[in-house]
Amino acid sequence: MRNELKHFINGEWVESTGSKTVDVINPATEEVIGRISDGTIEDLNKAVAAARAAFPSFSQTSKEERIDLLNRIADEYEKRKKDIVEVVTQELGAPITISEHTHYNMGLGHFRQAAKELESFDFTERRGSALIRKEPIGVSGLITPWNFPTNQTSTKLASAFAAGCTVVLKPSELTPFAAIILAEIFQAASLPKGVFNLVNGTGEVVGNGISSHPDIDFVSFTGSGAVGQKISENASKTIKKVALELGGKSPLVILDDYDMKEAAQIAISNVLFNTGQVCVAATRTLVPKSKHDEFIEAVKEILPTIPYGDPLNKGNIFGPLVSERQYNRVQEYIRKGIEEGATLVIGGPGKPEGLEKGYFVKPTVFTDVKNDMVIAQEEIFGPVMSIIAYDDIDQAIEIANDTVYGLAGYVVGKDKEKIEKVASSIRAGHITINNAPMELSAPFGGYKQSGVGREWGSYGIEEYLEVKSILGMPL
Ligand code: NAD
Repeated sequence: MRNELKHFINGEWVESTGSKTVDVINPATEEVIGRISDGTIEDLNKAVAAARAAFPSFSQTSKEERIDLLNRIADEYEKRKKDIVEVVTQELGAPITISEHTHYNMGLGHFRQAAKELESFDFTERRGSALIRKEPIGVSGLITPWNFPTNQTSTKLASAFAAGCTVVLKPSELTPFAAIILAEIFQAASLPKGVFNLVNGTGEVVGNGISSHPDIDFVSFTGSGAVGQKISENASKTIKKVALELGGKSPLVILDDYDMKEAAQIAISNVLFNTGQVCVAATRTLVPKSKHDEFIEAVKEILPTIPYGDPLNKGNIFGPLVSERQYNRVQEYIRKGIEEGATLVIGGPGKPEGLEKGYFVKPTVFTDVKNDMVIAQEEIFGPVMSIIAYDDIDQAIEIANDTVYGLAGYVVGKDKEKIEKVASSIRAGHITINNAPMELSAPFGGYKQSGVGREWGSYGIEEYLEVKSILGMPL
């Protein structure tokens, strides 16, 4: 049992002012693996005061000092590899191999990338007679979800530190332990006191407190649209800037010139990754009508060969969903798909045989999906693929854009012109062609109801900066 009943405030581990706790559950075993403090507004106020007090000095540090700091953090992070990989597997249920390859590496990547970006980042420029200065926005409140416990926190923290901002972080109460390791890493890297503050607890109390706090200048949130809306409403009362990274219902458009087996492989990997709990999951697969049957056959052949189950087994590609709530939600969507008349190709309701313990679901594929069905419009956040057949590229683009979301899009094909047409017509912030690898220096964020603002690389740093014009500055 891991009891982490303290918050990290002003460079120290301090007792919570409240006595309530939140249990943390391993989703693969359904066992309680530890507890965190259910933080109070008093805890939050202390953390905000510490961040506010540290801001004047940290905001004045030089770019070189912050490059050095980010690299020291990355070095300390590397020393904690084993702990990070283990913790993400325990609290999220991510297979150990994915914890290492994706969760650990992305977390590390953002610190290294921010240091690299700073080297060429200009905090000043001249426009005519004006001097333009980019200055840290202030105390930043960071609220993160559970699906990438290291990536989501690290991208926000690396950008904030690179910009010269001080922070208060509230990670998801479902996966809080990775953030505790981060606090230890910052201590080991000698991050000045008060620059990073961690208050654990629920969204209703600590999260809500952050978005409405008069002494917080900026809120960066990743999570659901419903909570994003609440955060915007709260933040509007103090005209606080917000960055929102929300959900998606991303289309994957397969062109008719591609090998359908390879296309099926790409489509499957983009919907099963992290057990489908990915905001950019390619959940709507758009297949040319002429290739539909061939594609289905390929899915039926490939999907059953993908190993999943116990996250501690190195061979497994995906594991359980994060919580019982998430399990019930995904089951509900699978039932809804059947009810709406979609054809079940593989999977379906219930637990997979032999995996009765843990929040495991069957990877599920529907075809004959109409884009106005609930399973094609709402974010499921589980390993569920909806296949929609299209007549021509124009129709594929129309279907791809027929969503309130605009986070990501995928194109799988050979013809350069067609690829370009689809990639430029999808109204989304992140397009991937033929399974191209991720690029941490490229901006990440959504159009439409998928969010406001961008993370990663220099675009991520910009979010934590205000822009000042100075006219008549003596030379
Ligand atoms: P969530 O919105 O329930 O919770 C996210 C965070 O917000 C948690 O820390 C939670 O405690 C906190 N929170 C809850 N209520 C709050 C409130 N009233 N005020 C302030 N904070 C509050 O989301 P989740 O279930 O943790 O994550 C899944 C969702 O996140 C999905 O919709 C997914 O698409 C989205 N997501 C988006 C991205 C992206 O980059 N666009 C990345 C990952 C996840």
